[in-house]
Amino acid sequence: MRIRRPVNPIRFDIGILGGRIVDGAGNPWYYGDLGIAGKKISKIGRIDRKECQNVVRADDLYVCPGFIDIHTHSDVSALLYPGCDSTIRQGVTTHLVGNCGQSAAPVRGPYADLWREHYWFSGFGYLKDWDWESFGQYLSHMEKKGVGHNIAGLVGHGTVRAMVLGSSQAAPTPKELRLMKSLVDESMRDGAFGLSTGLVYPPGCYAKTDEIIEMCKVVAKYGGIYTSHIRGERETVLDAIKEAVLIGEKSGVSVQISHNCPKVGAWGRTKETLRLAEEARIEGLDVTVDNDVHTDLEESMSASLPQYLHAIDKQELFEILKDPGNRRRIKKEIIEDEHPGAGYVGLLKHGMFDRIFLMEVPRQKDLEGKTVAQVAEERRRDPYETFFDLILEEKDKIVTLYDYILEEDVKALLVHPLVMVSSDGSTRSIDHVAGDSPGYSPCAFGEYPGIFERYVRDEAVLTIQEAVRKMTSFPAQRLGLLDRGLLRPGMRADIAVIDLARIRDRATNLWPHAYPYKNYPPKYPEGIPHVIVNGTVAVKDGKQTKARAGEVLRHKWP
Ligand SMILES: [Zn+2]
Repeated sequence: MRIRRPVNPIRFDIGILGGRIVDGAGNPWYYGDLGIAGKKISKIGRIDRKECQNVVRADDLYVCPGFIDIHTHSDVSALLYPGCDSTIRQGVTTHLVGNCGQSAAPVRGPYADLWREHYWFSGFGYLKDWDWESFGQYLSHMEKKGVGHNIAGLVGHGTVRAMVLGSSQAAPTPKELRLMKSLVDESMRDGAFGLSTGLVYPPGCYAKTDEIIEMCKVVAKYGGIYTSHIRGERETVLDAIKEAVLIGEKSGVSVQISHNCPKVGAWGRTKETLRLAEEARIEGLDVTVDNDVHTDLEESMSASLPQYLHAIDKQELFEILKDPGNRRRIKKEIIEDEHPGAGYVGLLKHGMFDRIFLMEVPRQKDLEGKTVAQVAEERRRDPYETFFDLILEEKDKIVTLYDYILEEDVKALLVHPLVMVSSDGSTRSIDHVAGDSPGYSPCAFGEYPGIFERYVRDEAVLTIQEAVRKMTSFPAQRLGLLDRGLLRPGMRADIAVIDLARIRDRATNLWPHAYPYKNYPPKYPEGIPHVIVNGTVAVKDGKQTKARAGEVLRHKWP
């Protein structure tokens, strides 16, 4: 006689029960339970709690695919903060790093230090154990260390150019161009998802269009994408978009125009900028756009000086700024803007010093909360001179807030069908590493919850399903990550559960700014109770686990 053993009813490692499923495709929510087995979603439908090893109750909550952030600068910060605290708590489960021409690899040869010390945004100085040269070694380094959410990477044109040409403004010789192309080729074979440019930053701003087309031809061969912080997002914004489109046309890559909100000097021109992307698509070019929703940026004061001054030591810069003749010349260069500077430089170009705030002034605390315009008035001094004075007086250590974008423009982009959501931030933690302060980083701590709070719930600019689409399946499609970004059986189990009624961004300091600054320093958001990365619980009941379940993703030719 055969004895029947009782059948083990467990079929799912995790069951998310009772939630409203927002599938990521843009469809309205529906009720359903979601079962996860291993790293994948294995069922959506009706699931009994007896079938689940672990149960997540999601009554009245929205169950969404984990958010995919297509524009980030977490290249180094994900190594400094491998838990990815500030982003995982927003429900973000994938970051694309290496944007704006800046990637952490390949770095080798005589100019490697120039890159790390002068051109890299920040963070390298705090890393104790970087040991890579190639893009592949960089990815393996991150993989070994472990990371809280998935990371995919672009190779930066600025990085590659600096490795071959240093800080030279010259065009590459044919031999140098071949070398640059070979670095891109190697990085693509190592798993880069494409190439990025930062054409307002050094050394990208010195590159002619042809140089970029040549490098993009390599990317096209591997089916990668081209993302660009275009050559000027202000007065020259239309020409800059046309250049990006031309690069796509001539090289065969698809084009992603990064954080493409017109900045001061081009306020209100979103119709014209978006029309260029629409027209390119009619012509058969795959052009898409991303944008973040913040109107301000924290940067150093020296970051708004002309690009050639970024490549020198601080001490040398201070000596230059002591000379009145140099100051007159630099002021003229800022106004002429030959190599258009970053968006916020427009505030200097147009003399709008009332939108440049001093958030932290180490030696002169009484200046905190004032604008450069106010300080200039109190000192009865020219605002440009005051700007230079402040750099010298505080050794460029002032935490400065540039408010250079209009919220109406942000909203116009948010609702456009070709625009997906990105943060332009980098993953951080409130438990920051010694010496490295999170500063004012709303995009690192509050981007995604802020969109749900302000633009989905409070103002109804977007429906929840449309917001989620722009954060999930749309960027996934752009990257060729066809097993993520949607809630369907068989897809990777990257999931964010959100409580729309309670969601709260605690990192954004809305315009008009008033001292003391609201939400500064930043805190983690509220209303994102559960986050799952590759089938592992990363946030449970609002508390982050110690999981480092992220994967380092490598691009594969589809
Ligand atoms: Zn950028």
